Amino acid sequence: MSPASAATDRIYLSPPHMGPRERELLLDAFDSNWVAPLGPHVDAFEAEFAAFTGVPHAAALSSGTGGLHLALELCGVGPGDEVFVPTFTFVATANAVGYRGATPVLIDASLESWNLDPDLVTDELDRRAATGTLPKAVISVDLYGQCAHYDPLLAACDRHGVALIEDAAEALGATYKGVHSGGFGRIGVFSFNGNKIMTTSGGGMVVSHDAELVERTRFLATQAREPAPHYEHLVAGNNYRMSNLLAAVGRGQLEALPPKIERRRAINRAYREALADIPGVGFLPDAITGTPTNWLTVMTLDPHLAPTNPTTLRVHLETHNIEARPAWKPMHLQPLFANAPVVGGHVSEHLFATGLCLPSGSSLTEADQDRVIAAMRELLHP
Ligand SMILES: *Cc1c(COP(=O)(O)O)cnc(C)c1O
Repeated sequence: MSPASAATDRIYLSPPHMGPRERELLLDAFDSNWVAPLGPHVDAFEAEFAAFTGVPHAAALSSGTGGLHLALELCGVGPGDEVFVPTFTFVATANAVGYRGATPVLIDASLESWNLDPDLVTDELDRRAATGTLPKAVISVDLYGQCAHYDPLLAACDRHGVALIEDAAEALGATYKGVHSGGFGRIGVFSFNGNKIMTTSGGGMVVSHDAELVERTRFLATQAREPAPHYEHLVAGNNYRMSNLLAAVGRGQLEALPPKIERRRAINRAYREALADIPGVGFLPDAITGTPTNWLTVMTLDPHLAPTNPTTLRVHLETHNIEARPAWKPMHLQPLFANAPVVGGHVSEHLFATGLCLPSGSSLTEADQDRVIAAMRELLHP
């Protein structure tokens, strides 16, 4: 590749990062003719994933969204129920609540970790308990590769007997007080979508300390077929299981995950160092309670101090063929959820207005990152 083309190659936000092992395992699955859903690579992937996260039971699915849908069903969420959900998240979290015919109650983030504000959740649960209107469940999201603040969240949920579901789709490899993401709630859900820290092109995993819940997840994900020689059904299931081909890719990705997490952390450090002299530049803070993976590095530009704003900077980067994206647009600002109840909202509105996600993929080279930083500094003067 000539230097001229290297300078104009597109730099993506978080592209898939494959290695030779993934290819080898994929071909193994193909050559064995286990091209059907399920198969030996699915079983092995589940066991290896459980070992990695330390959450003992795991079921591989076709998406994280499907996992959230089943997690809500397994926690008894149904039509007319309410579920607390962060307003600052990807739409899949709130959509899953709608799939159950339930209503999301959108709760604001805290500035410390950009995750669910534990004080808001605690106060709202106390208030709801007093009026007999507790939600059926709380979904907490570990956003951008960082765990939510689980001690106060779990204390409040436990006190009121409300199930907590952990949407860990963005946080594989992150820890909270030394414990891996995924195992804090009754059920944890991961995603292997194309832009996540590891990918199977599409896929997800449900994990739990409760073997029965994971067994039930498998059952509901394979059309809820009762044990009988003919097709016998008591309840409506889904077709949510992972294919053996994709599980083979997932095993290769999981093997190579630790250095990819380290690379994302190094990318985050390099952005912080390179922009430390620019007034008004901030970043998603590292919570003192854990270790993030820095799945995405998200910067903030203070409107009163910074030399530019996120929109101008994003459009400028695009002229250099560099992909950057706004922070999540809060759910309470989405037309889709215009009628959903909201608790707070100013913090997530502020993060949406000031945040910008930067290229953060583990395959980003130092030269690529230098190109991103040089382009940014054309607008960001000290
Ligand atoms: C990616 C993501 C999901 C959805 O996972 P899919 O595997 O794409 O269905 C859910 N929640 C959050 C927070 C995500 O980032």
